[in-house]
Amino acid sequence: MNYIVFDLEWNQATRKSAEVQNLPFEIIEIGAIKLNEKFEKIGEFSRLIRPTVYHTMHGMTADIVHISMRDLKYEQPFSQVCKHFLKWCGEDCVFATWGPLDLTELQRNMSYFGFKPLSDGPIEYMDIQKMYALKYNPDDYKKRKALNVAVEELNLMDDIPFHRAFGDAYYTAKVMREIAKSLGGSKILKKVSYDLYHIPKDKSSEVDVTFDTYNKYISSAFANKMAAMEDEKVTDTHCYKCGRKTTKKIDWFTANGKNFLYLGYCWRHGYMKGKIRVRKIGDEKVYIVKTLKLVTRKQANEVREKQQKLREARREKRREKSLEALDQHE
Ligand SMILES: [Zn+2]
Repeated sequence: MNYIVFDLEWNQATRKSAEVQNLPFEIIEIGAIKLNEKFEKIGEFSRLIRPTVYHTMHGMTADIVHISMRDLKYEQPFSQVCKHFLKWCGEDCVFATWGPLDLTELQRNMSYFGFKPLSDGPIEYMDIQKMYALKYNPDDYKKRKALNVAVEELNLMDDIPFHRAFGDAYYTAKVMREIAKSLGGSKILKKVSYDLYHIPKDKSSEVDVTFDTYNKYISSAFANKMAAMEDEKVTDTHCYKCGRKTTKKIDWFTANGKNFLYLGYCWRHGYMKGKIRVRKIGDEKVYIVKTLKLVTRKQANEVREKQQKLREARREKRREKSLEALDQHE
């Protein structure tokens, strides 16, 4: 098995009305580093792509990436370059990228240009940006850093510039190697993320995995949100460590209709927080991502406070409404 650390540059329509459906971003460059299981570099890939959809460079792309349409004129189109790329990747590989966007965009472009799907369900990959945040900034890991900041912090700077696909893949691979080293090599594979360009196609291919510190469940599609929230597996809150039923402290509640929280207690493992994110696919259909996580008393109290605040806000709203109604009567 090899790791394919890759990065893409893409272009987009110069105005919203010119955006082509199913292809908001057209890939114009692929850069990649191939690492073996010991994280040694065993290959490089770097190709520009002649666009066939958007023929004017968006200002943002031109500013950041410094590629002009003239540079791309004699390159091969995506259908050719991507074919080379996939062949170069080989059959047995795990993708790694800086942040969650690139693998999705690769698949969206592949779908648009008529490739057969990389997978018919979620793909396990390594989000190095997320891993970097969890490792070096665990208290504030939701804040993600730019690649050049991470590279500077780890003192990995070389003379290769940033913001081109190959350079960014090169530095992402370096950061990945540092993280792998500190974890003891292949343990990095326990830190996988899931690309959800294709959600699980049926119940039997749903994702339900337990990591060191949490459990993650990714459902297949439901007809609507109500159906999802009535599903037993979706709202199930057994302790993921021991399988025992948790005592309900605060039942599933939501502030915005999209994220639901739960607080329970396992007599053996303590407080467990549940979080459901409802994600739309199309008009009505949804799928859900649920995480169950053992938390400290302090974190448990934060869930309580959130529920309290929500209650107070609702009470206040109700009070205002009755005052308004009173006014209208006078
Ligand atoms: Zn337990």
